[in-house]
Amino acid sequence: MTVQKTEWPDSLWRSTAEPLRDFPELQEDIETDLLIIGAGYTGLSTALHAADAIEQIVILDQAQPGWGCSGRNGGQVHGQWKPDLAALQRLYPGSQFDAFIKTLGDAVELVFDLVDQHQIDCQAQRAGSIIAGKGGKAVRYLTEWSKFWAETGADVRLLDKHASTDLIGTSHYDRSMFDRRGGSVQPLAYCQGLARACHERGVTIHGDSRAVRISQNGNSWRVFTAHGSVKCERLVLATNGYTDELWPGLAQTIVPVASMLTATAPLPDAVVSTLLPQRQPVAEYAGVPAYYRVDETNRLVFGWRGTVSGEIGSLNTAHLRSRAVRLFPQIA
Ligand SMILES: Cc1cc2nc3c(=O)[nH]c(=O)nc-3n(C[C@H](O)[C@H](O)[C@H](O)COP(=O)(O)OP(=O)(O)OC[C@H]3O[C@@H](n4cnc5c(N)ncnc54)[C@H](O)[C@@H]3O)c2cc1C
Repeated sequence: MTVQKTEWPDSLWRSTAEPLRDFPELQEDIETDLLIIGAGYTGLSTALHAADAIEQIVILDQAQPGWGCSGRNGGQVHGQWKPDLAALQRLYPGSQFDAFIKTLGDAVELVFDLVDQHQIDCQAQRAGSIIAGKGGKAVRYLTEWSKFWAETGADVRLLDKHASTDLIGTSHYDRSMFDRRGGSVQPLAYCQGLARACHERGVTIHGDSRAVRISQNGNSWRVFTAHGSVKCERLVLATNGYTDELWPGLAQTIVPVASMLTATAPLPDAVVSTLLPQRQPVAEYAGVPAYYRVDETNRLVFGWRGTVSGEIGSLNTAHLRSRAVRLFPQIA
């Protein structure tokens, strides 16, 4: 029998995360209380929290923990959401709005709590995070949200052009919002740390085990992979953008958004001291926003989101680099 092994992308995150052994493929029929499909942040965090109440938990991933989005992202930890306040209030009326706002703040705490609690070695930095913008619409958005957060008691401040330039190292932006709660992590190392913590809590993880079919029998489910199956009472699908027809209709709920990340070589001290000296991650408030930060090895890690059509379009390394150089000519 040929077992197909995960092919990892040749990425900065893969080369700077502490290696984690691959979890074995499922090759038998087993039973569990809770089965989770997908070993990214969603699946792993669900398992870790459920482990307080549920004895037997199994996670299946078609590849390995962190192979998906959770090992390929910018590692920026923000407590912010794109819509303006009025739009968010329309989306979440009444008490739902308060719950949503609480979730935004709690989500940031949760990441750093998990890092502390499970001693995850993932270059975690908590020097705050920045949303920066240019032009009237961005200034209105940043002013409104800064005021709102400050009224909730959060340590969030609006910075004028001068203060933003000092903090970020470019005079491109008119305003920025500095949120003391935010920070950054090495995303793959964080994800693999969650997988280690799950393993230590007794959660069984199977990699290289793609769920291909689900059948229901009364109150239980059976999920099939190429060489085995899992019977369970409870089932969680945490398959994110890789969701296919495993659960009919679920793929249609996913909106594809292209996003790409690149990194410079480690920058010389004289250059790196001129940009983001305190290492906060920055995300732009813009139609098609850039997001970036300086990592522990002094690389500028620069990302740019594409359109919501999911098309890659003009997203390529050369394009991202020229965009980064326009903001920070000193890196050219
Ligand atoms: C370029 C980029 C940059 C980003 N930057 C940031 C950022 O800076 N900050 C931030 O907060 N967010 C960022 N994000 C978003 C963030 O990465 C995701 O929201 C997060 O990783 C989602 O985690 P997840 O566990 O839901 O999904 P994933 O990590 O994608 O996990 C889903 C898992 O399901 C598995 N799977 C799918 N189908 C099956 C199946 N049938 N059987 C078994 N396994 C299956 C996949 O192999 C995968 O491992 C970024 C995203 C991208 C693409």
